Amino acid sequence: MKPVVFCDFDGTVTAQDVQHVILNHYAGDAWIPVNEAWRRFEITTEERCCRQWALVHATESDLAQLAAQVPLDPDFRDFVAFCHGQDYDLRIVSDGFDFYIRRLLEKHGLSDIPYYANHLSFQGCHIALSFSRPNPGCCTFGNCKRLLVEELRPPGGRAIYVGDGLSDRCGAEAADLVFAKGLLASYLEQRGLPFHPFRRFGDVTAALQGLERRDGPIQ
Ligand SMILES: [Mg+2]
Ligand SMILES: [Zn+2]
Repeated sequence: MKPVVFCDFDGTVTAQDVQHVILNHYAGDAWIPVNEAWRRFEITTEERCCRQWALVHATESDLAQLAAQVPLDPDFRDFVAFCHGQDYDLRIVSDGFDFYIRRLLEKHGLSDIPYYANHLSFQGCHIALSFSRPNPGCCTFGNCKRLLVEELRPPGGRAIYVGDGLSDRCGAEAADLVFAKGLLASYLEQRGLPFHPFRRFGDVTAALQGLERRDGPIQ
């Protein structure tokens, strides 16, 4: 049974958070206090995004063009090839939005990777949001990653998690092997939960290769 690799998108696959890039461009500083309230768990992802995206007046093609400029982690493509070579089932799990994930994966020739995200749709400059898996019993996010890990891991199979942010906390807690940086790493460290720190995907690839050399194929 090959493992499923769950991989966060913003700040993990991409070098920057795509929503932050869009909001900085279209909303000045007005989105920042809303984000701070979200980081303090005072508001949910749904409330945060509804308030922040109300500040954005742009068409889908404007936003898609801006999003397409956000660079990916320079090692991500090699990591994808490594996962395919090992027959790992790689999936992107995001509390962000499908339109920019699709666009960026297409741009980089990676559109065969399945992704799970919130949905954003445009009618001219009006933007409508919908949230995929709210799970108030677990977390304040719009796409609960714990539910995704539980839903998508094969029975008896291992779940590997790679992430950097607050919305990765419950997904990482449900996984067997975790690679973390940023706020996710601080959270796991404070709780004494085991994880492998990483800076870029090359570190994750090297660590998985090392584990396979030591223990045999990850099942
Ligand atoms: Mg992230
Ligand atoms: Zn959750």
